[in-house]
Amino acid sequence: MTKWVYTFGNGKAEGRASDVTLLGGKGANLAEMASLGLPVPPGLTIVTEACSWFYTHGRTLPDAMKAQVLDGLAHMEKATGRRFGDPERPLLLSVRSGGRASMPGMMDTVLNLGLNDHTVEALGHDAGDARFAWDSYRRFIQMYGDVVLGLDHEVFEEILEDEKARLGHEYDTELSAVEWQHITQLYKAMLEEELGEPFPQDPQEQLWGAIAAVFASWMNARAVTYRQLHNIPTAWGTAVNVQAMVFGNLGNSSATGVAFTRNPSTGVKELYGEFLVNAQGEDVVAGIRTPQSITEAARIASGSEKPSLEKLMPEVFGEFSAICTRLEAHYRDMQDVEFTIERGKLWMLQTRTGKRTAKAAMRIAVDMVDEKLIGQDEAVTRIEPASLDQLLHPTIDPRFERTVIGSGLPASPGAATGEIVFTAEEAVEASEAGRKVILVRVETSPEDIHGMHTAEGILTTRGGMTSHAAVVARGMGTPCVAGAGTMRVDLRGERLIGLGGVTLGKGDIITIDGSSGQVLKGEVPMLQPELSGDFGRIMEWADRNRRMTVRTNADTPQDARAARSFGAEGIGLCRTEHMFFEGDRIHVMREMILAEGEEGRRLALDKLLPMQRSDFTALFSIMHGLPVTIRMLDPPLHEFLPKSDAEIAEVAQAMGMEPAHLRQRVDALHEFNPMLGHRGCRLAISYPEIAEMQARAIFEAAVEAARETGAPVVPEIMVPLVGLRAELDYVKGCIDRVARTVMDEAGMRIDYLVGTMIELPRAALRAHSIAEAAEFFSFGTNDLTQTTFGISRDDASAFLTTYQRKGIIEHDPFISLDFDGVGELIRIATERGRRTRNDMKLGICGEHGGDPASIHFCEDIGLDYVSCSPFRVPIARLAAAQAAIRGKNG
Ligand code: ADP
Ligand code: MG
Ligand code: MG
Repeated sequence: MTKWVYTFGNGKAEGRASDVTLLGGKGANLAEMASLGLPVPPGLTIVTEACSWFYTHGRTLPDAMKAQVLDGLAHMEKATGRRFGDPERPLLLSVRSGGRASMPGMMDTVLNLGLNDHTVEALGHDAGDARFAWDSYRRFIQMYGDVVLGLDHEVFEEILEDEKARLGHEYDTELSAVEWQHITQLYKAMLEEELGEPFPQDPQEQLWGAIAAVFASWMNARAVTYRQLHNIPTAWGTAVNVQAMVFGNLGNSSATGVAFTRNPSTGVKELYGEFLVNAQGEDVVAGIRTPQSITEAARIASGSEKPSLEKLMPEVFGEFSAICTRLEAHYRDMQDVEFTIERGKLWMLQTRTGKRTAKAAMRIAVDMVDEKLIGQDEAVTRIEPASLDQLLHPTIDPRFERTVIGSGLPASPGAATGEIVFTAEEAVEASEAGRKVILVRVETSPEDIHGMHTAEGILTTRGGMTSHAAVVARGMGTPCVAGAGTMRVDLRGERLIGLGGVTLGKGDIITIDGSSGQVLKGEVPMLQPELSGDFGRIMEWADRNRRMTVRTNADTPQDARAARSFGAEGIGLCRTEHMFFEGDRIHVMREMILAEGEEGRRLALDKLLPMQRSDFTALFSIMHGLPVTIRMLDPPLHEFLPKSDAEIAEVAQAMGMEPAHLRQRVDALHEFNPMLGHRGCRLAISYPEIAEMQARAIFEAAVEAARETGAPVVPEIMVPLVGLRAELDYVKGCIDRVARTVMDEAGMRIDYLVGTMIELPRAALRAHSIAEAAEFFSFGTNDLTQTTFGISRDDASAFLTTYQRKGIIEHDPFISLDFDGVGELIRIATERGRRTRNDMKLGICGEHGGDPASIHFCEDIGLDYVSCSPFRVPIARLAAAQAAIRGKNG
């Protein structure tokens, strides 16, 4: 026979904390608290499976379950000495939802169930307080009417407000027994008129109605949306808890409250919570009256006149704080608890692991290690890696009242303030003059890179989370709000128009919050990141556990320096083409691309060589002693082509060419599918002199930097977009020749590796053959995802969001690795590559290298390192440590 019902109370329980799947979080923890001997009103939990039964049987309840609920009721009656529906000492119930994952406020609760026109009198008589009884009854009718009978709660509030106005009362607490009784009658009359039948008087009918309503609330719109947002499967269902009522609204020695066992925003070890005297249920959070602080310290800090619980009811407070300490010791984590005091007697109604900010999470984990509640490994696993984003950037002081003038996507975290500029050139000019700027564009393109580099923050009005602005900003660690559709850029008028028509011009100050997507007017107070202290200790423990190394994707000395300060252990990807967007280099680059023959190209390349060499020298000096992977020129040429007439005229002049003629060259280089076109190693094969120049720059820089620092780097030269073994052989041939020449010239030996990026399915499949030439593989998962799915990353956001909404895919494969498809190719390439070369170094350098779930995958298949943008390095270090700890613990 199915066991539908688990009881708890009086120091015993049939369930326990680990039964979350069966009993839901609330039920499991009520059982656990009861077993611990804590004061929990007796009750029962109907298992989550009953929820699916309910939906597969036309929204009805199984008879066997009803029978077990009635048995459970008998147990509650015994424990309380009251009887359900009893005309003298009625037992009242709360009917509460509670699934496996907490969904705060998403589903419904009914309190004071079992009241009717007779039991209300008995309740008042028994408590010696008629006002309390009528207050409870009106609450019950309102909740039952709303949750079970489907009436809008506002209709009840209207009646109440009208009555209060008529009677001249401001607060609910001012109403007398008779006045509540009258309101109850108005409620019932309204209900009967609306529904055509009277309010149900039979307690059992009420009970089955409320249980069914809780199951039904699993599919209400709020809950469905919440589950979608938080990836909670519909199949989990909710449990239902039926519990004896205790009353916080029984006069001035009664109260109800909520508390965290530590401060959830700072992590400080102090009870943190609020309560209301003579109140019930959600009154505290509903904002009907201003709640009071639990501790005296908090009351003083808030400057409140109203007494704290500590002062008002010192004994109850003592018991409560002892229980909180006990719960923390038991659960070994910060708890979020709900409680009620009935005539001076404390009752615990809920406990769960409390949500907290990233900062608090750090503080709590470190303190708990010091308190010997948890070990260091566990402290490391307690921190959500992605939450470190909150800690690594300046953030807006939460105490500050924000004036929001627009909002978009939180594309790159952190907050930044500066004056508005509308072009990259203005950004560079202003920052050279020592002013801070926010670059405001409709959208950005590679030509804006130099402006993006100098800007404090970037704001675009178009584009998604993987738009150019978003990806580049994240890479640079620059705060960015992208796709702020509520704002408009008027380029000609040099104006930014925000919500409510707020109009700002060039030079006006704005602040963007890349963590929330908000745009604010003017300058606002900021909090600076704190990288030592708790953060430092957690990272030290994390690094001790880590197997994979963490490298960074860095193209510039600034990036490399930032990454090293965040703990990067090398560069996993240096994209050389980004070097050509800086300053005037784009012009030389254009000359090179558009040159008519080898001679013209060599001329331009000669100009690029010293620039590139000095970039590499700087990079190698910063990364002294560490490996640096440099990718040969990769981009589709079209990204560099001049577009406007002005740009064409400029390049033509520099090259001594007719603009019309140059226009023809540009047109000839036009490609229909540049991403699948003339790019990657295909460039080096058509124009080997490009590869030769780059190799020379790398080797000469290696020599120079080694002489300077005495700690040579081992350059790892990476050939992009290889699909055929012969492609790699050809390019490697060029590189090796240049290496020999430079070594002869310098009279010095240089250690280096030549490897390839695995970013085409063919390369993954032929890995055993490619590995004969390649000394390392780096998985370029951005391209590998594009080429495996046949989806262009730049065009995907238009339909991938629809795919997600319609449940075709769960997550964006460009953000979190597609384990089944792309992951399978990585697995294949890893196995086949290592079969040929068992000491082969393997890493990942796509955006996924900074994504915690993808990092777990990399650990599982045994990659040597992950590489990610500088600001994600700490996230990757933590995620890699967590993956290793999980592996260690099986
Ligand atoms: P939620 O899941 O939204 O937190 P709960 O089931 O915890 O909903 O119920 C909301 C509130 O109702 C509780 O915080 C508590 O104040 C009150 N409540 C629930 N059960 C009881 C009970 N047995 N006695 C008194 N109050 C209760
Ligand atoms: Mg609750
Ligand atoms: Mg690529």
